Amino acid sequence: MIQNKIDLKSLTRAELELFLADLGKEKYRARQILRWIYQRGAGNFKQMTDLAKSFREQLEDRAMISHWSPEAVETSCDGTRKYLFRLDDGESLEAVRIPMEDARATLCISTQVGCAMGCQFCMTGSFGLKRNLRPEEIVNQVCAALEDGPISNIVLMGMGEPLHNFENVVKALEILYLDDGLGYGTRRVTLSTCGLVPEIQALAKRIRVQLAVSLNATTDEIRDRLMPINRRYPLSELIPACRAYAQETRQRVTFEYILIGGLNDSPADAKRLVKLLHGVRCKVNLIAYNEHDASDFKAPTDQAVKEFQNHLLQRGLVATLRASKGQDISAACGQLKAKLEKHSPAI
Ligand code: SF4
Repeated sequence: MIQNKIDLKSLTRAELELFLADLGKEKYRARQILRWIYQRGAGNFKQMTDLAKSFREQLEDRAMISHWSPEAVETSCDGTRKYLFRLDDGESLEAVRIPMEDARATLCISTQVGCAMGCQFCMTGSFGLKRNLRPEEIVNQVCAALEDGPISNIVLMGMGEPLHNFENVVKALEILYLDDGLGYGTRRVTLSTCGLVPEIQALAKRIRVQLAVSLNATTDEIRDRLMPINRRYPLSELIPACRAYAQETRQRVTFEYILIGGLNDSPADAKRLVKLLHGVRCKVNLIAYNEHDASDFKAPTDQAVKEFQNHLLQRGLVATLRASKGQDISAACGQLKAKLEKHSPAI
């Protein structure tokens, strides 16, 4: 918001219609404006040439359209691109474009500045939580990255725990789904959580989105160590909540499992994982831990990864191995921010 002007990128369709009604305008005007903002990239009202001049002046007085450009971009040799955005209060956040086959791309976006969840394998967790992102700050990451090429899928898996910023994230999803706007289908957007059980239950009732759960352990003892949230919502609460989410939404839940050498990558872990996920409509995404100087965790051996995956596949679980992309450009979440804030923003 600038000088009490409302940012139209912060509004859902219903809110935009209300705002227009206040200006004495009909509902269908919302469709016109959404198309200008999201499909034609209008950054001001002068560009909206099919609106009467007096209407554009009214909009100019009361509203604005935020527009973002990244402050820094790093491109990896595999095509992964990290964008760093500077916010109006001086904070910063990142989004990552991950190229897929067939020239498609997935965009990983942030939902908070920093994060309160303190997962041990995550650089963002070590910053603590600075603040929640507003809906338009979540949406603008997508709009800015779209100027750099098409994006087929969005994952809320960057900085922050999306369900710890529940209302703003739900609103941002509503905006991303707008028919006359960016038009993302619910199957093209995935929300990743560390396991906030009451919010997982609430999410199923509020809005459709693919759910991914960062699991990473098969016992409470190891998960307590890796992810402090497990002390509040242990596996005996988390897994039933995921089962219920899958049933209620008729969707498969994705479990992310970072394999860490010598910690959670043994054959006994693979066996326990199969048992734990029995009867849950799901798939498992295995990710080999990416070693770096700031952490003592070790990468798993190639053989341990292969054996772990084979055990799941042989027991009928869908288990994919996600390649860790962008290794030459600060791969894990929060690393670009850490690097740029320690050093000069020039890259
Ligand atoms: Fe937060 Fe996600 Fe990092 Fe955990 S992994 S500390 S939830 S950003």
